[in-house]
Amino acid sequence: MKLNFCSLSSGSNGNCYYLGNEFHGILIDAGISATVIRKFLKNLDISMQTIMGVLITHNHIDHIKGLELLTRKNHLPALTTQKIWKSILSPQMKISTDCIREIPLKQKFHLAGFDIEAFPVCHDAPETIGFHICAGDKKITIVTDLGHICQIATPYIKAANLLVIESNYDEQMLVNGKYPPFLKARIQSDHGHLGNHQTATFLADNINDKLSNICLAHLSKNNNSPEKVLQTLAQTFSERGIILNGHQRISILNRTTPTNMISLIEQTDSL
Ligand SMILES: [Zn+2]
Ligand SMILES: [Zn+2]
Repeated sequence: MKLNFCSLSSGSNGNCYYLGNEFHGILIDAGISATVIRKFLKNLDISMQTIMGVLITHNHIDHIKGLELLTRKNHLPALTTQKIWKSILSPQMKISTDCIREIPLKQKFHLAGFDIEAFPVCHDAPETIGFHICAGDKKITIVTDLGHICQIATPYIKAANLLVIESNYDEQMLVNGKYPPFLKARIQSDHGHLGNHQTATFLADNINDKLSNICLAHLSKNNNSPEKVLQTLAQTFSERGIILNGHQRISILNRTTPTNMISLIEQTDSL
């Protein structure tokens, strides 16, 4: 079966990712307006009827902006941990109780035919999680906001065939940029965001033949550019003598528009 992944939007302006097959799909985060999510999906020929739920990584507005309307209008279940729900729900963000689903940490649950596991990552929200999603023999890991890659997250990232990982800022651009010192410190901290060198070094240390698609996500508008991300990655890989095999692809996820659909062919045990 064909497994399709597409980023609808990625970055502090709003995050929303789609994963699905010919029958069902799920969204990861709803950080852009529900109207824009529906419009982008329609343009991709994906019916809202096939979306079975939305997984939420944490309570920052760039991950939940469209959640209230999306759940209300489309009666879409939203899934995250109890602690993250506590941090999301407020008079400004009311979600109908029948759309609220609590999920455990580091324990498999099922949604839309996928086996999914949530794991904690280090970021400055009350709790932030990444997702490891299995479909047949294909594994997708999504980690959008994290200050460093802690030991708990590493095995989930290493096991991925398709990896969505943050490459938020160019270290020099951030240091020389206009942000106030407290904000620079927050972004660079272990609970902030991953810089291009951090992500490139982690990828160089952990790249393996199973990893066919690397999607670099959550690029800063002010402190990064797709060219800087690719330059840093190319330089780090070349210093290590790493050459990608012919099947490995690197994509930079657009900040405000959908990226090209990535398809993986899922092998199942049946037949
Ligand atoms: Zn974010
Ligand atoms: Zn965040």
